[in-house]
Amino acid sequence: MQQADTLLVHGIVVTMNGDFSLYPDGAVAIAGDAILAAGPAKDIQARYAAAETIDCSGCAIMPGLINAHTHVPMTLLRGLADDRRLDVWLYGYMLPVEKHFVSPEFVTLGAQLACAEMIRGGVTCVNDMYYFEDTIAQTMADAGMRALCSQTIMQYPTPDAGSYDESLEACERLIRKWRGHPLIVPVVAPHAPYTCSGALMRRCAEMAVEYDVPLHIHISETFQEVEDCRRDNGMPVVAWIKKNGVLEAKVIAAHCTAIDQGEMRTLKRAGATVAHNPTANLKLASGIANVTQMLAAGLHIGIGTDGPASNNDLDHFEEMRLVALLAKGSTRDPVTVPARVALALAPVEGARALHIGDLTGSLEPGKRADVIVLNLNALHNTPQYAFLSHDPSSVYTQIVYASKASDVQHVWVNGRCLMRDRRLLTLDEADIHARANEMARQIEAFLIDREGDVLRKLAAIGGVQQEESFEIQVKATVDDPAPIIAAINGAGFNVVRHVHYRQYDTYFYFKGEDYRLRYREDDKVDAQSNIESSRYRLTLVGSQKEKEFPHSVLLSRSRFIAPADRSLRFYREYFKPTREVTIEKDRLRWEVIYEDENLFINIDQMIQPEAGGYFIEIKSRTWSPRDAERKARTIGNMLTRFGIGDSAIVKDEYVEIAEVMPSR
Ligand SMILES: [Zn+2]
Repeated sequence: MQQADTLLVHGIVVTMNGDFSLYPDGAVAIAGDAILAAGPAKDIQARYAAAETIDCSGCAIMPGLINAHTHVPMTLLRGLADDRRLDVWLYGYMLPVEKHFVSPEFVTLGAQLACAEMIRGGVTCVNDMYYFEDTIAQTMADAGMRALCSQTIMQYPTPDAGSYDESLEACERLIRKWRGHPLIVPVVAPHAPYTCSGALMRRCAEMAVEYDVPLHIHISETFQEVEDCRRDNGMPVVAWIKKNGVLEAKVIAAHCTAIDQGEMRTLKRAGATVAHNPTANLKLASGIANVTQMLAAGLHIGIGTDGPASNNDLDHFEEMRLVALLAKGSTRDPVTVPARVALALAPVEGARALHIGDLTGSLEPGKRADVIVLNLNALHNTPQYAFLSHDPSSVYTQIVYASKASDVQHVWVNGRCLMRDRRLLTLDEADIHARANEMARQIEAFLIDREGDVLRKLAAIGGVQQEESFEIQVKATVDDPAPIIAAINGAGFNVVRHVHYRQYDTYFYFKGEDYRLRYREDDKVDAQSNIESSRYRLTLVGSQKEKEFPHSVLLSRSRFIAPADRSLRFYREYFKPTREVTIEKDRLRWEVIYEDENLFINIDQMIQPEAGGYFIEIKSRTWSPRDAERKARTIGNMLTRFGIGDSAIVKDEYVEIAEVMPSR
């Protein structure tokens, strides 16, 4: 008799080995961190004595599941800002909240929450990508999880680094500290080709090659990304990362919803693998990865949940089921990706996809003891047919199509029991639950505070210039602009610049607020009426007037301006205005020196809504109210010069004018 530590007996042993061996009344022997043997129960019990023998009747004994792509601390952000488009969700909510909250304490709690959920659902190994990855590695190791810990590197500052150089340094420290650890594999993670330059991706690849660790990256998540890559780099995403040396490393490419068969072959040739994220891709409507084609190309595919903020859970049974169903539904082929293939993607192919196939993923002697016991007797999985005699593959369909994460009874990782009879042994579930809810309340308070304040919401998405500025201006109606144009081109005016614009303004109003947000598209028009260039700006306009000078020249304060680098649709979905007004106008603009003052003159013709006549606007930026007096006097003189009397002055803004116009 040989000695083992634990014998799991009388379950259906689903080995997921090369032959997909099944033992209907089977057993698994565990000693230390490894699997000693898997086979028929009577053989195993005849050969091994163990301190503990666990009866697994009515259960499957199978390799632990592997989550091939996620961001574990984002458990704390699940349920936040759901049902939005990817850009609004990411740039409007996730990034600002992460910027404010992500810290070593945050990632520790988020990782603990994720570990508790994953262990309860039979996941024994996870490929994480986030910030403060060294802290996450420690949390994972403490919880007893096997984990690939991928340090995120981006071109821009991140919650854990002021620059990409700092991220690279943190990554190198992570690798030096954790390589060779029995549970943790450190990984280099350039976030994506659209958040890293070619040069930065190359540096990441060089580091991964130097230390022989995997490289984890988001690839072709959406068709938009592929289009952008073609536009910016003149080639599709896989070609672009190859050009920058990425495929020299052991790559794990997350998503790949929009790669073609040529790209699949390129990945395969390079030994790169894919993490398929069915739920997240569906939820964000990113697309459906073509698993059937990828399998035919010989790619190793693992299954990922992606971050719990875009899923919203870490339930791998749900993902496996979806892998099979999506492949069938999207190809209209009910026999593609059968249950056994879908199941294999979680443990054994998942391990290969993470480049640790020699270590885990199947119940074979010598592999690490990453084992789960799954109850097949639940009501939703009843009745059972006689396995093997009826149809040997029925155990796979039972696991993939009917089993639930809550059917997992016991979990071992690296020979250590992490859950016994659904009770967690390394984590305090009640404590994690309470602290996660406390964190949610803090995030909620931050968002509620911000939601009520358009300026802070504007600041949250970046780029706001908040310096205080003053604008002095007057607006009047004129029937014929020709005499004014002639005057501008005459004596006393020094024209610095003259431009012709077509302007499209969309004003967002907010309930109970006296300010509005303006999204402006400025199309610069040449002499032939062709658009030369376009500029997009976002301005928060207050209605507050500081002072009124003679001739109704007004001083107003503080407009907060940001370059509008996202679409009007993005801002509409992000700011959720209660009302919108749209104005289109033709603008002739002059920058002039008049009486030693720098002033701007606009002659506007409203196009939509239609308004009779023209509007002339004379304005100047002024940096303090002190020189406003002088400029107000100059503007008054200019009005007189143009022959514009006080009766022609309008105090209304265009939006107010627009509102009394009948719509066309
Ligand atoms: Zn991801």
